Amino acid sequence: MFRGHASTLAQFRHALATNRLASTFLFVGLSGIGKRSFALRLAQGLLCERRPDEALDPCGECPSCRQVLAGSHPDVQIVAKPADKAFIPVELLIGDKEHRMREGLCYSISLKPYSGRRKIAIIDDADYFNKEGANCLLKTLEEPPPKSILILIGTSEQRQLPTIRSRCQIVRFSPLAETEVAEILVERGICSDANAARQAARMSGGSVERAAQWCDESLVEFRGARDMARQSVRMYRETYAMLEANQIVPAIGGHPERPANTLERFRCKRDGGAAHDGCSCGSGSIVASSGNSCCSASRRVALTLVSATSCV
Ligand SMILES: [Zn+2]
Repeated sequence: MFRGHASTLAQFRHALATNRLASTFLFVGLSGIGKRSFALRLAQGLLCERRPDEALDPCGECPSCRQVLAGSHPDVQIVAKPADKAFIPVELLIGDKEHRMREGLCYSISLKPYSGRRKIAIIDDADYFNKEGANCLLKTLEEPPPKSILILIGTSEQRQLPTIRSRCQIVRFSPLAETEVAEILVERGICSDANAARQAARMSGGSVERAAQWCDESLVEFRGARDMARQSVRMYRETYAMLEANQIVPAIGGHPERPANTLERFRCKRDGGAAHDGCSCGSGSIVASSGNSCCSASRRVALTLVSATSCV
């Protein structure tokens, strides 16, 4: 099931129904909001063997729909920037030196459709064209082959070269709704817990990609540590405010054997329960015997202040 971008889908349906579908598109919008998924759905809808074009409602089960999803449909070509390259290599667009204009996306889209319906080319990472790559595409963009559709996917219009931008119909994608992001996380198995999915969706700004990062288990530990630190700081502030309100803080500062905010005696879990001595009056042992122990520096300070209240 496809989620989000209902108004964009309606525009494409209307263009198809009125026979005014453009040939070259530039999809722009935040990363991770479904532009590539939308392009694939469009390709499926236009090539589905069971449903009409204008419905743009692919069955998802016919051989054509399956091939599009698997990336093996002979009439659909997808190009993206390799991870180890700074730009989309021109070889992917027009073939290497030995096969110039006899291989690559521009050549492939110029051929007759295998299915007899359409040829569809999707260029992901369109933010990463250099001038050479953009120049290779210009002729295809200016004179799209019959029955062809070329979709460029980028994050913003400003990141595209003017020569490309001016030759495409720009389609702007909005961030997904929180509920849509949460549902996608669960559906795709990115997050198994519905509550956690909703929390991640709230932090995502409408991007499934960002939400998935919040669901990443490797970050859970970090977030847990961060929350603990925040809790410790809050506790310290509350304790300090309480002591200050009761005029105890000046008394700590005036202790004959130690300054305020120094670590006194308490049992530290990290040190295997060893007692830390610091004050000969022994007041710290009250904290230790109460069972409070923690390795957070801010909590140590808080505990020191508490122990000092019983210092004699
Ligand atoms: Zn189908």
